Amino acid sequence: MGSVKASLVIISAPSGAGKTTIVKHILQTFPQLTFSISATTRKKREGEIDGVDYYFLSQEQFQHHINNNDFIEWEMVYEGKYYGTLKTEINRIWNENKTPLLEVDVKGAIRLMTEYKDSEAQSLFIQIPSIAVLKERLEKRASEDAATIAARIEKATYELQFVSHFNHVVVNDKLDNCLHEVEQILTKHFL
Ligand code: 5GP
Repeated sequence: MGSVKASLVIISAPSGAGKTTIVKHILQTFPQLTFSISATTRKKREGEIDGVDYYFLSQEQFQHHINNNDFIEWEMVYEGKYYGTLKTEINRIWNENKTPLLEVDVKGAIRLMTEYKDSEAQSLFIQIPSIAVLKERLEKRASEDAATIAARIEKATYELQFVSHFNHVVVNDKLDNCLHEVEQILTKHFL
């Protein structure tokens, strides 16, 4: 397994920052990291698989987990859309002697960072070069309607304020450079 010095890796990125590609690359490069599958009440996108990309839950199921204190953190990330990390998911990964990689929004990340020390959790923020670039990327992806894209841009603008809370900030301007930089950061903690 190597000497795992952090017990959690937290990554935050606005939707459209290249998050999926970066997470995939990290998981291929660092076999000791396992993707923590979040629960969500948002609708499944084309190509997504329940239990792989997310645990897709109804509002009632999600509320039941909140009431049971089953989440290590949860947020209403977008209006009426809930996302959260189940304790059972983190324990499943720790039981395999792996380190969970949590891809969460900024509020969720900050909540986790206040709970875990730097020696236990490393946080990375993937920054987009500019809001204009983000808008262009989201429109190109064309998987959401105009109102959803607008909400995502508003959220990205808001989240930029909290960048200084993260252990590491990497700008995804050129994907190759970004991947290399992320690799270097994680190598320090995992090799
Ligand atoms: P998407 O709907 O594009 O998959 O994700 C939307 C946002 O939800 C992203 O910013 C993502 O980081 C965040 N997110 C995904 N899972 C979780 C989670 O378990 N907790 C929190 N707080 N945010 C999450």
